Amino acid sequence: MSDVHEVVIIGSGPAGLTAAVYTARANLSPLVIEGEPSSTSDQPGGQLMLTTDVENYPGFPEGIMGPELMTNMRAQAARFGADIQTAKVSKVDLSDRPFKIWVGDPDAPEPTYLSETVIVATGAQSLMLDIPGEARLMGHGVSTCATCDGFFFRDQEIAVVGGGDSALEEATFLTRFASKVTIVHRRDELRASKIMQDRAMANPKIEFLWNHTVTEVLGDQTVESVTVENTLTGEAGDLKVTGLFVAIGHRPNTDLFKGQLDMKANGYLEAKPGSSLTNVEGVFASGDVQDDYYRQAVTAAGSGCMAAIDAERWLEAQNDA
Ligand code: NAP
Repeated sequence: MSDVHEVVIIGSGPAGLTAAVYTARANLSPLVIEGEPSSTSDQPGGQLMLTTDVENYPGFPEGIMGPELMTNMRAQAARFGADIQTAKVSKVDLSDRPFKIWVGDPDAPEPTYLSETVIVATGAQSLMLDIPGEARLMGHGVSTCATCDGFFFRDQEIAVVGGGDSALEEATFLTRFASKVTIVHRRDELRASKIMQDRAMANPKIEFLWNHTVTEVLGDQTVESVTVENTLTGEAGDLKVTGLFVAIGHRPNTDLFKGQLDMKANGYLEAKPGSSLTNVEGVFASGDVQDDYYRQAVTAAGSGCMAAIDAERWLEAQNDA
């Protein structure tokens, strides 16, 4: 077991790394437990690692690729002395202070780390369709990451599932490579913002398959086609594509905190309005794990800053007391 840290940050997306920059610059020597790559949709750096062009993060007039933005944030946190560990938290005990944090075996009698404060920045992850062939062909034509995999689909026909901003953003990016992108959406109305809709609809390489779901991914070694089903008539058909990009939303990564931190009905952490304070004193929530509304990189970064300042002031108040 190590000494007692002042701040442990769990997660390394924009929220966690911004909290790291702020707490490091406040001389709190933060330990960032950044996660471990376990699948394409679950890796250190959070969702921006799976994103393409980021055009709405201030300071980059020409836009920046998501992974590059995260690499920069990580380097910035490290530059100020944040200790970034590539590991996954397996258990936390927030019942009294110092808080206990395990990585590796959750049944180990002693925790791996102790900390006076914890900043939770575990984010959210991609939802999957959970249909036959999806998991088997993941990485072999099935993807949740256009940035990572778009290149492999040069001059090919591919499909994107979903009707939100993610689906339209991925589809638009994929037209740089693919000869045709079919957006398969289960309704006849999109959830995405107007600007994304206009952009996708004006793109000659994008077609919409309305009122359809994908029910199976077919192919031996790689994707050869997907089965689509009409949600109104039930009629099934075959869509010849060599790639399937799943972009149907996200789930907050809150399993570690069940029974310890208050959550909303949809599983996102409950933070006191206008702050990062949770129901446990000394534990602060930031980023997408507590945000089911804005869910933007810049709002996540902003809330990471809030959590850092909240933690810093809370530690100061403890010391004064
Ligand atoms: P989302 O807004 O929740 O959209 C998910 C889409 O997937 C919906 O159209 C939904 O259909 C569909 N869907 C869900 N489950 C499905 C299933 N099992 N089978 C088929 N379709 C399914 O998620 P998102 O697009 O990932 O966006 C999340 C948030 O991030 C949003 O607030 C969004 O604005 C934001 N975002 C912003 C940007 C940007 O501004 N650059 C980029 C990406 C995301 P229904 O519509 O029928 O429910």
